[in-house]
Amino acid sequence: MPVLLCTVTAFAQEARRPLVLQEMTWEDVREYLKTHDMVIIPLGSTEQQGPHLPLGTDFYEAFGIAKKISEKTGVIVAPLVFAAYSEYHMGFPGTVSVKTETLEQYLFECVSSLIRHGFKKIMFFNYHGGNNIVQAKLIHRINHTTSATAMAIGIGGTIRKDVPPETYEKFFDWHAGLGETSILLYLHPELVRMERAENPKLKFAFTKEPHKLKELFEKNPAMAKVWDEWIGVPEATGKGGASHEFSSNGIWTLNDVKKSNAQLGKKRVDVMVDSIAEFIEEWKKSGNMR
Ligand SMILES: [Zn+2]
Repeated sequence: MPVLLCTVTAFAQEARRPLVLQEMTWEDVREYLKTHDMVIIPLGSTEQQGPHLPLGTDFYEAFGIAKKISEKTGVIVAPLVFAAYSEYHMGFPGTVSVKTETLEQYLFECVSSLIRHGFKKIMFFNYHGGNNIVQAKLIHRINHTTSATAMAIGIGGTIRKDVPPETYEKFFDWHAGLGETSILLYLHPELVRMERAENPKLKFAFTKEPHKLKELFEKNPAMAKVWDEWIGVPEATGKGGASHEFSSNGIWTLNDVKKSNAQLGKKRVDVMVDSIAEFIEEWKKSGNMR
């Protein structure tokens, strides 16, 4: 009898290897479903990430971190989509964007297939801000129309933890900046062109002094809320909030991107992986595991 991955999860945990749906056979999945019903779906994007990071950065982050969570927990990772809603990055070549409704429907149909096979606990590990709205709608739709329970465990949810605030300045280090470059230097150093990393020239309708934004928002928190709604919108809206309109090279940061380092990336990834793995183990214990 072929060695099925009898206790596939033990296999994953002992071998410190992730379980990736596309790398498994249908027999492996059948075995997995006898004792497990969880799946992690990474959500990223294909969009500009400054002159030094690859277009697939968000996908590589979501998939890379989800695989590390899988190594720890034995939960299957199922990457189902590479592109996302990234209209506000379309000013830079190579960016691919799909409408939020299209993405929601596509992912709902993919998840419905998994549910038909017996997956009941669906976890989205998102690493692209533009996916937040799609993720929220999907989770509501899955929870209200199917027998499965869906959760956000990455960006757009409350489960993922990150390094403490004193580790590095997080305010406006949102896209291809110090934090994200450090993560990619840890996960995929071969894809990072540090010699091309340059700090962006930023110009915002809000102020002529972008470096004083934090100060401005501390004095006037209402403006911080408006800023959140304004930043990262399509050029066609005419508000100046598209990536290429306020950032000279597509990076959204006030930090020095050249100070990015793999140690910081590892620290951030470890904290995320540990906090999410802890949640998954709790859910396994408290949920209706068969
Ligand atoms: Zn993104």
